[in-house]
Amino acid sequence: MSILHQDVKEVLVSEAAIIERCKELGHIVNDFYRDYERMPLLVAILKGSIPFLSELMKHIDLDIEIDFMDVSSYEGTESIGDVRIIKDLNQSIKGLPILLVEDIVDTGRTIQEVKRLLFNKGASEVKIITLLDKPSRRLIDIDADFVGFEIPNEFVIGFGLDFNEKYRNLPYVGILKDEFYK
Ligand code: 5GP
Repeated sequence: MSILHQDVKEVLVSEAAIIERCKELGHIVNDFYRDYERMPLLVAILKGSIPFLSELMKHIDLDIEIDFMDVSSYEGTESIGDVRIIKDLNQSIKGLPILLVEDIVDTGRTIQEVKRLLFNKGASEVKIITLLDKPSRRLIDIDADFVGFEIPNEFVIGFGLDFNEKYRNLPYVGILKDEFYK
């Protein structure tokens, strides 16, 4: 077994399941935007949503463009209100529908703040697509419009999600062995 896999206690969502679901989500997105006058800009939040964006966009058969934002919401504590922009969008989004691509929706703070930010920048609409959803952890009354998988209240890693910046390159979503979380 390779080094990274040895640290994993349990695989929650397999690579095959993620690929299959991204194909389905692609079709759902195609149907949703088909009759829009302007095609959506996919805004991916760095870094966790990169593998999801890569897999998903292959199945989007629309004339879309992509852009990236990097935000930090927790400065040590979990209670900070505003997000800090570390990397802003490269283009104006005035009048554009946005599809915000997230790795996971947990408390809901990040998507709430980023959504507000995108509307402030003039987006005509903001929809949210997330690979993972932890509804049991929600503190804000907000939901993603399109969800890959609902997962239980566990800290997960892999397929973009990190633990201290590691494990993002695992091809599946899993839970680390207990000793790593201590
Ligand atoms: P929220 O603002 O919804 O509480 O959290 C969203 C962000 O928190 C995600 O984009 C992700 O960076 C981080 N996060 C939330 N839950 C998990 C988790 O289970 N594992 C990892 N690696 N990050 C998480």
